[in-house]
Amino acid sequence: MNGLMMDYPLTLQHMLWRVERLFDKKEIVTKREDTLHRYTYADLSGRVAQVGNVLRRLGVKPGDRVATLCWNNYRHLELYYAVPCMGGVLHTLNLRLFPDQLEFTVGDAGDSVVFVDKTLLPILDKIAGRMPSVRQIVVLNDGGPLPPHKLGELLDYETLIAAEKAECSWPAVEERAAAAMCYTSGTTGNPKGVVYSHRSQFLHAMCVLQKDSLGMSESDVLLPVVPMFHANSWGIPYAAGLAGTKLIFPDRFMGDGQVLLDLAEQEGATMLAGVPTIWLNLLGALEKSGRRLPKVHTVICGGSAIPRSLMEGMDRVGLRMLHAWGMTETSPIGTVALVRSWIPPEEAFNARLKQGVPVPGVEIRIADITTGEELPWNGEAFGEIQCRGPWIASGYQNDADPTKITEDGWFRTGDVATIDPDGYVTIVDRTKDVIKSGGEWISTVELEGAVMAHPKVLEAAVIGLHHSRWQERPVAYVVPMPEYKGQVTAEEIREFLAGKVATWWLPDEIRFIDEIPKTSTLKFDKKALRNTAEPIAEDAVPSPVQGGSARE
Ligand code: AMP
Repeated sequence: MNGLMMDYPLTLQHMLWRVERLFDKKEIVTKREDTLHRYTYADLSGRVAQVGNVLRRLGVKPGDRVATLCWNNYRHLELYYAVPCMGGVLHTLNLRLFPDQLEFTVGDAGDSVVFVDKTLLPILDKIAGRMPSVRQIVVLNDGGPLPPHKLGELLDYETLIAAEKAECSWPAVEERAAAAMCYTSGTTGNPKGVVYSHRSQFLHAMCVLQKDSLGMSESDVLLPVVPMFHANSWGIPYAAGLAGTKLIFPDRFMGDGQVLLDLAEQEGATMLAGVPTIWLNLLGALEKSGRRLPKVHTVICGGSAIPRSLMEGMDRVGLRMLHAWGMTETSPIGTVALVRSWIPPEEAFNARLKQGVPVPGVEIRIADITTGEELPWNGEAFGEIQCRGPWIASGYQNDADPTKITEDGWFRTGDVATIDPDGYVTIVDRTKDVIKSGGEWISTVELEGAVMAHPKVLEAAVIGLHHSRWQERPVAYVVPMPEYKGQVTAEEIREFLAGKVATWWLPDEIRFIDEIPKTSTLKFDKKALRNTAEPIAEDAVPSPVQGGSARE
């Protein structure tokens, strides 16, 4: 017997219906060079219709890939809605990819039209003449002349829009049709294309609104610093369309703590979202100025582990961080570190530091890295996280890397974690980064957290390097706080770590550098570190005794 409920298609056109009908008065604010651009959801809806008509006029057909190379701003939001609602596939290009990788993603996706922010034209220009699938390039311009380029004829977004009506007859769209694409950051090999469907985006956006997930609502004012060019901006653009949340876009000022502070304060932000590096900048700006953001109730943070020192610092200035884990392939929300009702108050801080519990809709398990056997949730056994659910990738564009799906249909994340009996996931490492020393595992993530807790340390990344006796040993790359440059010693850090981590975890070498290389999504680029690392000077520092009775 079948149910007798409507087979209502779960498409992004539903979000558009809400944007048009329900949130007229709600604002969307974008930082510009010296001013703010401000308009309402009613304006957004009119312009989305105009962009829909532009796409039709440009010959965009169902299933065509339409790329964006844009910062977080209102025009990017218009494209987030217009492209999928017109049946196209929104491909957000990552502006931090190397030119060769950018060229690869445009070609692999087969993009037919590219929309590019004027300030990002120089990035697209680097691959001029290397985008055979692209028919038209449209520039999103705030006025003024364009920088010199070799891209041929360019169309102007505002001119195209001005010629169109603010009503659009949207085509019927299937819920399983592709709505958007995003490429992984590609630290190993070429980036891989993740293809989201309308259905997956719809269900993911519903999840983002839940109180036990990110919990954004109509009454919130959200400043998304997480880029719209990566991992759907954590689903915020579509969740905002469901809820009617006021949005504040930082445009190209995402890394400027001072600008973020001003924007959040002036516009009354209640929620912020971004990766830990961003919050280090904001914390610096808050501590330096003595200013505070009393209206902000939640700072959503994911993309890499939150260092304990950062969460402590943010707590000190009254900003409560909400830790979440996910990846491009998981749309991206997978787990959120809420404090479950039975966690005693003295353990709440530690619970918030973990990556969290699976959100409704996502199933998770951990599997032994070598044998693939499922492991218990005892907080000790650690293995690769595998997950499944309606917004988890079932494969990649052009069938890149089919090994990521297990035989029984789970997605292999490449993240190594423990899960405790309360259901909290704690990421220990990436399968590619975890160090095997004398047959035992060392978590680089945990070691980095311990080094970064040192008051003179700004950032630290740990990698495993070959060792003739132990196979691999940890080496820490450390960036001191600017005021302590040249004034912190390896010995000091080793002493600080003693007692906080097992003796045999102590890094064989501590190397001071000016900056940790970062990936296109602002994570530590450990592959770059490994590629350029000097071998361990094995005679200089004897590795701590490991194994047998001497092991801790
Ligand atoms: P991306 O697909 O570029 O968003 O990267 C996803 C990867 O970032 C995950 O597989 C993790 O390795 C890492 N990641 C994301 N969130 C967290 C987190 N909260 N803690 C630790 N690692 C994270």
